[in-house]
This record gives sequence, C-alpha cells and structure tokens, in this order.
Amino acid sequence: TGQTSRALARIAPSQTAAMTDRATQLRGEGRDIISLSVGEPDFATPTHVVEAAKAALVNGLTKYTPVGGTARMKEAAALHFARDLGIEVPTSQVMTSAGGKQAIFLAMLATVSEGEEVIVPAPWWVSYPEIVRFAGGSVVPLQTSAASGFRFSAGDLESQIGPRTQWLLLNSPGNPTGAVYSGDMLLGIGEVLRRNPRVMVLSDDIYAPLNYTGAPHATLAALCPDLADRVLTVSGVSKSHAMTGFRIGVSAGPEWLIRAMEKLQSHASGNPCSISQAAAVAAFEGPQDFLADWRETFRQRRDLVVAGINAITGLSTPEPEGAFYCMVDAAPLMDRFGDDAKLALHLLEHGVAVVPASAFGGRDGFRISFAAGRETLMEALRRIGDALAP
Ligand code: PLP
Repeated sequence: TGQTSRALARIAPSQTAAMTDRATQLRGEGRDIISLSVGEPDFATPTHVVEAAKAALVNGLTKYTPVGGTARMKEAAALHFARDLGIEVPTSQVMTSAGGKQAIFLAMLATVSEGEEVIVPAPWWVSYPEIVRFAGGSVVPLQTSAASGFRFSAGDLESQIGPRTQWLLLNSPGNPTGAVYSGDMLLGIGEVLRRNPRVMVLSDDIYAPLNYTGAPHATLAALCPDLADRVLTVSGVSKSHAMTGFRIGVSAGPEWLIRAMEKLQSHASGNPCSISQAAAVAAFEGPQDFLADWRETFRQRRDLVVAGINAITGLSTPEPEGAFYCMVDAAPLMDRFGDDAKLALHLLEHGVAVVPASAFGGRDGFRISFAAGRETLMEALRRIGDALAP
C-alpha cells in the first residue's frame, strides 16, 4: 500500500510479465518449463549492431544527448519511416524514446485528459489500456473475433466513436492476435476518420517487417497523407532487429505532438540511452537483407504452430498474418477448466507457459508466442496436447 497515487491505483501490473516471472521461478525450482509467454525474437542481435554499440562506448558516446535523440538518430529514424513504412517526414517530426512502449506512454500522457475516450481494439496489447487509464482517459473496447481474423471493420469503428473520442489505437501486425490490416481496410478506416475530424490515431507498426501475407506493409499515414497530421506512427528495433534490451523506439507524427512528447521526456528520462541510439542507427542504416530470412523462419514456425494447435481437440486458431503470436480459442474446454486463467495454470503445470486471453481483454483462450525454435515449439505442442487429452 503506502502512499501511491490515484493514477497508479487505476492500473494493474503486466500479466504477461507475471506469467513469464512465474515460469522463471518454476525453472529456478528445477522444473522443465517452456516459455511461450514472452514477446521477443529468439535470434541474436546482429553483429554489426553489437559492434556499433561497442564503438559508441569506446568513442565516448557516453554522455547526455538531445532529448528526442541525436541528429544522426533522427536522420536514421526518418530514413526508416520513409524506406520501410512509406512515411516521408522531416527530422523535426520524429523522436526517439526508450522503446516503442515509452513512445506510447509519452503520447498518451502528453495528450489525454480526464474524460477523454480512447478506442482500443480487443484483444489488445496488455499495456494499451493501462497506459490510457494512467493518463486519466477512458478505454472504449472495440471487440473483434476470430471469425473476422480479429480485425474490426470501418463500420465497427464508426459505431464506437462519440463526442469524447480522442484516439484510436491501431496495431498492425498485431499483438496478441497477429492480425494484419490490408491497405483497403485502412482506406476504409481513413474514410471514417475524415468524417470524425477530432479523432487521432496511434498506429503501432512495431511488427511491420513480420508480415506473412506477401503484400507490402500498409500503414495509415502513408495511405492517407491528408490524415497524417493526426496520426502518430510508432516503430522501433526491438522486434524487427532482435534488440529488445536496447530500448529504442521511434515515433513520427505532427510536429506539435512530437514536441509535446519531447517536453515530457525531457523531465522523465532526459534522453534515450546514447549507446543504444548508436546501435539503432546501425540497425536502420545497415543491411536489412536478414529480415527476409527471419520473416521466413517465423512464417514456417507459424505454420507449424497453427497446424499443431488446430489438431488438438478443443483448441482452434485462425492463421495469424503477422507478428509472432497466435491467439488460441479454447472455449470448448471452459466447462472442464472453469476459465482461461485456470487453463493457463494447468498448462504451466504441464510445462508450458502461455498467457490467458483475459489478460488481453479477450476470453476463453490463450496467446502463445512462436518466437522459439522449431524443436521447442514441437515439444510445447506435444505437452499442450497431453495436458488437454480428454
Ligand atoms: N507495441 C506492441 C504491440 C508490442 O507488442 C510491444 C512489445 O511487446 C511494444 C509496442 C513495445 O516494444 P518496445 O518497447 O520493446 O519497443
């Protein structure tokens, strides 16, 4: 208890972190646990990135930097937005923060006031609703279902927009469902936004390179340039370049919003880590060809997991089109287990850590991450099958 704030009381700790901690604890006790609860690539950080970080240390890049990142960092971020996402922005419209997570935190805290509404499609990434509530906003859930590939339609969106709607949080490819919005779907969403000039969009494109549809990544700010002045696009290197520990995220958006985020960051962290910035510059400016190999590896794992899950009685999943997560429906098993949290604990007892769907504003299922090796995934599927055998 202690003297914690009213704002803190509005939020809950991350359930994905809780499940990962529980798995680590059981492992510490000598149990053999496969963790499919965590959202990070199992690949090693590319060597040229590691070398750039070492060089930064040796060359004395160990001091404060400008709040939103060094000039070089902002240039690399602008290059990334233009080359990889099709969003052409001057460096005055980009900023860098400690991960995409902090970018979203800054954007919400810098803009949301008490009573404002933020539409969050569900199942959602665990941090979205907590950040919105911490900022004082109200979460307006926009439920999606497996039948629609966990995507909302333009009509679904329009029906949730009201006079207090300030933001739509849009994540494609998405965590925890792997849902990918096509260019056509985004154009439809753009039409709704034109009719609702007050609504801003936070487009979380952190999984952009992990798209298995064969179509190029589609994103709102590039597709609807007339709306770009109310779209904040968040990206980074964590998921794409296996750099989760470096904590670098990048944002592109209207200048007023980027300045507002920097204002907040100037008093929070001061600036993102100087060494990590140098590493991220190398990630964005260096070779990108390995991304295609990683994508292909993830696609094969996706196929393995989808087939394995759908072969287990009581479980089903649509094919995720992106990211490295699979949202599994286990509704037929709820009579037997009670709820999805109890089902997740049962699976943990059988040596596999997953996260219950309820942690993401979903229900009667669980999320598994397929950012793990083939053998590991096969063993996990075998354990899940055994654990759920009638
Ligand atoms: N957005 C989504 C949808 C994520 O899944 C994550 C990480 O789990 C992030 C943003 C933040 O990533 P990072 O802060 O490591 O850049």
